[in-house]
Amino acid sequence: MNTPSVTPPLLQVDSLAVHFPMARISWLQRGPSPVLQAVSDVSFSIQPGETLALVGESGCGKTTLGRAIVGLYPATRGAIRFKGEDLTQQTSAERKKARQAIQMIFQDPYESLNPRLPVSDVITEPLLIHGIGNRAERADRARALIAQVGLPVDALNRYPHQFSGGQRQRIAIARALGPEPALIVADEPLSALDVSIQSQILNLMSELREQRGLSYLFVSHDLSAVHHLADRVAVMYLGRLVEVAPRNELFATPSHPYTQALMDAIPRIGQGRRARGRTIAGDLPSPLKPPSGCAFHPRCPKAQAICKTDAPALLAAPGRAVQLVACHFKD
Ligand code: SF4
Repeated sequence: MNTPSVTPPLLQVDSLAVHFPMARISWLQRGPSPVLQAVSDVSFSIQPGETLALVGESGCGKTTLGRAIVGLYPATRGAIRFKGEDLTQQTSAERKKARQAIQMIFQDPYESLNPRLPVSDVITEPLLIHGIGNRAERADRARALIAQVGLPVDALNRYPHQFSGGQRQRIAIARALGPEPALIVADEPLSALDVSIQSQILNLMSELREQRGLSYLFVSHDLSAVHHLADRVAVMYLGRLVEVAPRNELFATPSHPYTQALMDAIPRIGQGRRARGRTIAGDLPSPLKPPSGCAFHPRCPKAQAICKTDAPALLAAPGRAVQLVACHFKD
């Protein structure tokens, strides 16, 4: 599922699976040990300068996928190609070099910054790890980065606990920018912030993308933020991609019943008050025991008999070559 472009992708993920063997909870349990299938058979690409949003309910596997791409979780199967090199086959030294070019912003800026380090060290630590610059050059870069994320230079002398959540996320972004990455995996970077601050961070990410030609994998459950930042959107359900489309096509004509349910769940402004969106029927099944066939069938209003037995492939929707959908009955 490549984007329709002749430019080689920056990131190409092919048939990726990330599974976690689990311990039996009782000696009475028989058969093979359970396996948590967090990510299964996921393929997508990201072009240079492109933002791909990864959306889905909490627990659908999107954070695991992001963490596998930055090397925090090992791939069980499949390939993660960055600038053509398969990261899953690299030695740890080769992988370290690639990781310089793929940085991550975490969800919680309260936990992602070392509270014992002044902000100057928080930002220069990745530079030190990757052997970038001497002490004076790293300090210069820290000053430039803190200014670029909109904080005063004297912030470098303070500690993370002296900042608000939004300011901490700015520091986390400065830290991620230090090694001059080509790709940033941003894992729910807004969800721990006040609503009033979220748009500021979103605008900062947008500006940095323009200034630096960055690509983002933007992991989020917030479809309003996704609409603001993403070029394309990948919808994930229980470890698998069920729809991938350019942003405008996905929001105008969501084709998979799960994408349609996510859209229906967006809160709307109506008659002077913010109306709650419809909730999605049923609960997300356990990735320890995904349903047979199409994993969405127990919650899908359009499910037919075939849905319980045959898993649909991710294919172009009728008349829409750029919109890929995994459903036996695409609109
Ligand atoms: Fe619903 Fe069947 Fe399509 Fe799955 S394949 S989304 S169960 S209609």
